[in-house]
Amino acid sequence: MQILAKCPKCDAGLPVAAVKAPSAITCGGCGRDIPLSVSEALKSDRGVDRCPVCEGSDFYIRKDFDPKIGLAVVIIGALTSAAFYWFGRDLVAYSILGGAALIDLVVYGRLRDLTVCYRCHTEFRGAYARTAAPFDLHTADLLEPEYERRIRRR
Ligand SMILES: [Zn+2]
Ligand SMILES: [Zn+2]
Repeated sequence: MQILAKCPKCDAGLPVAAVKAPSAITCGGCGRDIPLSVSEALKSDRGVDRCPVCEGSDFYIRKDFDPKIGLAVVIIGALTSAAFYWFGRDLVAYSILGGAALIDLVVYGRLRDLTVCYRCHTEFRGAYARTAAPFDLHTADLLEPEYERRIRRR
């Protein structure tokens, strides 16, 4: 499993392989030491049970979506359909636009889910079974301020 630990101070993302994770990492952005307690389930890629950064156990899943890819598909689709439109082939233009939207959907649907920690936004990627629920704003509203109060006291 691949962990993207989020620095509590500057929010930089720090990639760590769960199997050989050290007991602490140093943030490349601000130099802060971040202690990691990686659970057995994380190391063996069985599931996400406890966050190694904030030790919270509340997670949500979201699509591992790269907005740049989606945008590129939309732009290419729009450009080609504009070219056909220019030459008076409206029908071809519209079907290309529709096709681009379809490709976007397929790309989006094939993306893997990743698990995210509600409190510190650390991300977990791997072959493990996704058990977390989708993002819930109410839960985030409760947990994020709680974590922020806690790291300010440290
Ligand atoms: Zn940092
Ligand atoms: Zn966390």
